[in-house]
Amino acid sequence: MSETAAQGPRLRPTLDAIPTYKPGKPAGADSYKLSSNENPYDPLPGVLEAAVAAAGSLNRYPDMAVTELTAELAARFGVPAEHIATGTGSVSVAQSLVLSTAGPGDEVMFAWRSFEAYPIITQVAGATPVAVPLTADEAHDLDAMLAAITDRTRLIFVCNPNNPTGVVIHRAELERFLDAVPSDILVVIDEAYIEFIRDEQVPNGIDLYRDRPNVCVLRTFSKAYGLAGLRVGFAIAHEPVATALRKTAVPFGVSRIAQDAALASLRSEDALLERVEALVQERARVAAGLAEQGWTVEDSQANFVWLRLGERTLDFAAACAEAGVVVRPFPGEGVRVTIGETEANSIFLATAAAFRKEL
Ligand SMILES: *Cc1c(COP(=O)(O)O)cnc(C)c1O
Repeated sequence: MSETAAQGPRLRPTLDAIPTYKPGKPAGADSYKLSSNENPYDPLPGVLEAAVAAAGSLNRYPDMAVTELTAELAARFGVPAEHIATGTGSVSVAQSLVLSTAGPGDEVMFAWRSFEAYPIITQVAGATPVAVPLTADEAHDLDAMLAAITDRTRLIFVCNPNNPTGVVIHRAELERFLDAVPSDILVVIDEAYIEFIRDEQVPNGIDLYRDRPNVCVLRTFSKAYGLAGLRVGFAIAHEPVATALRKTAVPFGVSRIAQDAALASLRSEDALLERVEALVQERARVAAGLAEQGWTVEDSQANFVWLRLGERTLDFAAACAEAGVVVRPFPGEGVRVTIGETEANSIFLATAAAFRKEL
């Protein structure tokens, strides 16, 4: 055997620089999982039945064009069906967006800290991540992002509200940004948490995309709709971008089970949105509780809150785990805590109060 054969296959060196995606810690039987921004409720009855019925055809490949869900989304948002591109979660649609626009030597920009998948999918494409620090109040620094644009910039992610800080960008500010970005750069407005927004000054990305060919919107069924386990997300984009997404996506990514469950969840929307409203109320209770305890917490419009704990991050996460709630630490930076079951939120609040007293 030659020496090269013994070394194993040559992998792309660019992979060495890629951080591995860290999923939220699984919670043990005796703890609550507040680490992945999931919806804490069981699937609605109609949704579960649709998924079970669809499982009867699992010897067949699914509908590659995801026809019915695409038609339903097009009708609901008042956009042409050709503008909708689905995928196995919006992360995979985001990856297809990067693969469609950027390769080696090109730049993909995002705020930081923001969604962890952005730097990973950028580097998988061989492109260069450009991470622009958040402002002191945990918001996108849109002026700094504009200043960081180069002739290599191909795509800019804007996460509204931002994961993990929960902070939003208002309409006027976002429009000013979009008007200043060169029209050959794709701007992706990631609205994974839009259903949790109650701040009326936050725009709906779909209104912004309509007359801007370089703007696209990302949505998911994983968060408010409670289908994280089924992997369905989609982009709304003008035709050249949507067509590119269909070329770069893994074929047959959305299963029949996922499509039917997504359709059923749209049909049970009133019940779903009632649950979202309950989570929004819980968010207000948690935010008020933290403020009362003396924490500085920026207003979150998502289903989580962010505590910037710096060096105390891991200690805080350990205290939460000890108390029975698993949160998401970003070592050296802070902790993101999903709004979950009422009891889980109360345990988190009590832990935060005790931790604060010891500081
Ligand atoms: C959770 C999340 C997504 C959605 O991921 P899926 O792949 O659809 O489950 C996308 N963007 C952000 C910012 C998120 O937090």
